[in-house]
Amino acid sequence: MNILLIGSGGREHALAWKIDQSPLVDVVHSTPGNPGMDVIGPCFDVAADDIDNLVKLTLQVEPDLVVIGPEAPLALGLADVLRARGFDVFGPSKQAAQLEASKAFSKGRMKAYGVPTAAYGEFTSPELAKAFLRTMEAPYVLKADGLAAGKGVVIAETLEQADTEVDEMLSGKHGDASATLVIEEFMHGEEASIFVITDGEGAVYLPAAQDHKRVGDGDTGPNTGGMGAYAPAPVVTPAIMDRIKAEIVQPMLKGMAADGMPYQGVLYVGVMVMEDGPKVVEFNARFGDPECQALMKGLAGDIVPAILASATNGLAGNEEAFESLLELERFEPTATVVLANKGYPGSYSKGSVINGLTDANNLPGVTVFQAGTDRDSENAIVAVGGRVLNVTASGDTLKEAIDRAYAGVDRIDWPEGFCRRDIGWRAL
Ligand code: ATP
Repeated sequence: MNILLIGSGGREHALAWKIDQSPLVDVVHSTPGNPGMDVIGPCFDVAADDIDNLVKLTLQVEPDLVVIGPEAPLALGLADVLRARGFDVFGPSKQAAQLEASKAFSKGRMKAYGVPTAAYGEFTSPELAKAFLRTMEAPYVLKADGLAAGKGVVIAETLEQADTEVDEMLSGKHGDASATLVIEEFMHGEEASIFVITDGEGAVYLPAAQDHKRVGDGDTGPNTGGMGAYAPAPVVTPAIMDRIKAEIVQPMLKGMAADGMPYQGVLYVGVMVMEDGPKVVEFNARFGDPECQALMKGLAGDIVPAILASATNGLAGNEEAFESLLELERFEPTATVVLANKGYPGSYSKGSVINGLTDANNLPGVTVFQAGTDRDSENAIVAVGGRVLNVTASGDTLKEAIDRAYAGVDRIDWPEGFCRRDIGWRAL
């Protein structure tokens, strides 16, 4: 079968790499792709949020399955348009993708279905928002309702800071995305990322992963898209996983389906593992980046049957068969270290040359997934984005995986790059 994969980040490179290994797959086409993906299969130059041209491209490629990587096309309804044209799509409808695209929607659904999450209020009036803050305790969690590229959440230590943030958000700090503000209770605990492949009813769970959001070692400095990840994450014990399934995922899937918006695709559940159990921090409508890189690398089996079944409503009742094709019991501990451009998540320069990728890829257990890269006129790989490479490695133990990933990092010759040196510290 032929695949069309939408996106160009490290997540999509890892998906293309994994999907391409399936005996079911002939060609993985990607758009727009990156220099790591165009050696796997053909890449096109249609951007991931250019819905009209993505539809034209799909009609031209006629894939057997469309895999949508990032959130933007999902929030714009790409899955609906393609399904209406008869294509099988791995990714939720526009309505179901609101679980990520609107925090107010997502909190409302959790409340309606009795899913544990932080207490909250949603506001368009600064006066009401400030009055609500005065009923809460510090620290204060303020979230822009809409998609804000990971920059829409502020944790304010004092009421004064929180008030200022209310004014800024509601007067358009993130444009329409912050026209509505969600304020919620601060949850104390350890975060983990859960990924569920679902057709709206049946659910297959991948090993729990953990991301590293802050730019600096020891979880310091500003938030980023993610500086590294590993899986499995020991904080999610089998007992916690059982509670996540029963108390969070099953009621969400059931409720969404009953309300006429079945969730089809991969559901990312950001959980806070608290003393009294797991609670939802957020949902995303796609794989997390960089967690996806660690998961794809660590999976021993074939992911294509499960994602195809998600797209074609064939999962429910057959979960065990898909889990055995995924060979979850053989999942190898895996870590991914993000190499970012100096200056990220602030401004950075573009065009610096990266060497040593082949050397790194030749190390045992190591695969480098590319993200913000391009080729220059001499065909050298150059950095053009904030997060540039994902040096990913598996091993017999997580410690071995992490050591291998850093050995890979050390083979890469890119003076303009930097990484965190403590990926996986919670598990070690
Ligand atoms: P992402 O870029 O991961 O999609 P986002 O911008 O949609 O993130 P959230 O995931 O909701 O925002 O929040 C970002 C981070 O802020 C979380 O990963 C978590 O560390 C912290 N956070 C959010 N809500 C809470 C809360 N209620 N209590 C404690 N920490 C929180």
